[in-house]
Amino acid sequence: MTKPTPRPGILDIAAYVPGKEHAPGVERVFKLSSNETPLGPSPRAIEAFKESAGHLELYPDGQATALREAIAEVHGLNMANILCGNGSDELLGLLCHVYLGPGDEGIITEHGFLVYKIQIMGAGATPVVVKERDCTVDVDAILAAVTEKTKIVFIANPGNPTGTYVPVSEIRRLQAALPAHVILVLDAAYAEYVRRNDYEAGIELVSGNRNVVMTRTFSKVYGLAALRIGWIYAPTEIIDAMNRVRGPFNLNAPAIAAGAAAIRDQAFVETAVTYNRLWLEKVAVALTEIGLDVTPSVANFVLIHFPDVDGKRATEADNFLTRRGYILRAVRGYGFANSLRMTIGSEEANLGVIDALREFMGRA
Ligand code: PMP
Repeated sequence: MTKPTPRPGILDIAAYVPGKEHAPGVERVFKLSSNETPLGPSPRAIEAFKESAGHLELYPDGQATALREAIAEVHGLNMANILCGNGSDELLGLLCHVYLGPGDEGIITEHGFLVYKIQIMGAGATPVVVKERDCTVDVDAILAAVTEKTKIVFIANPGNPTGTYVPVSEIRRLQAALPAHVILVLDAAYAEYVRRNDYEAGIELVSGNRNVVMTRTFSKVYGLAALRIGWIYAPTEIIDAMNRVRGPFNLNAPAIAAGAAAIRDQAFVETAVTYNRLWLEKVAVALTEIGLDVTPSVANFVLIHFPDVDGKRATEADNFLTRRGYILRAVRGYGFANSLRMTIGSEEANLGVIDALREFMGRA
């Protein structure tokens, strides 16, 4: 060997490509490509962040105690079952590195979040992709794909980029039919936006079983994407295994402080959820009236499908919107060649996109 060589399979991984951030030549840009909240974080989180910034010479608490305490208190959980991560992305990766290796399989769904595939492959294991039904996780298809090599199953609920939702009865059915050694990962990044009490049932599933975990994030409804804060609720054996390999100080101090303040401000979350609900409905109705096909979403974004005239309409619409300063997300990498995902933004941004797409569709 004449040079350093990555492990087999590493160079087969397509690196994650974040959404566009700029619209060249356009002064006023509305970034609706990464499901960030237009309301920003709670003012209390910003205050806590600033206060913490007065002690940047000190290492953070490696156990993120203040944040885990706050999460446990607000959700009524035991702190021993909570581990925080540098975004939930880190926790998804840790799960793969702890439980998967060469020869193992991880099940993901057709339009699932790309990080799952990257981390399964990063651990040297094989991603097994199963079909969805109507852009929604299909429990029977997952069960049909389980083999003795399966070690992990990833489900996002609500899904990204679809925004669709699997009822808890289906998740329960999946859990009950999975072999006991297979970890079921319930990625609940958008759970706060779901108005049914249903997702709390995910917590119940984790509490009652040794092979179910739930991941959550502060990047969406809490408006703290820049700080990279996620958490996992899991059985203690799983937390213990992950703790053995994680970075010693994986959360920075301002993130710990801001996250703890943010989760204690549930009134702010309520406001953000109510705002989203109102605009999610308005945007979906308006786009449908224009003649676009919108997948019914319960999250803070909508998946817009363009008429399949030449297979290029989504790209044309993307360029048309970008020239006007509206940045949506192309989702070709998620198996949608002729669709765009739009985050629910400010009133001005939402109305602007609707007007621009009306013009694009020749309905102005
Ligand atoms: N899961 C899903 C389904 C997501 O959409 C995202 C963010 N795009 C994440 C996890 C990761 O979130 P974060 O790392 O910011 O916590």
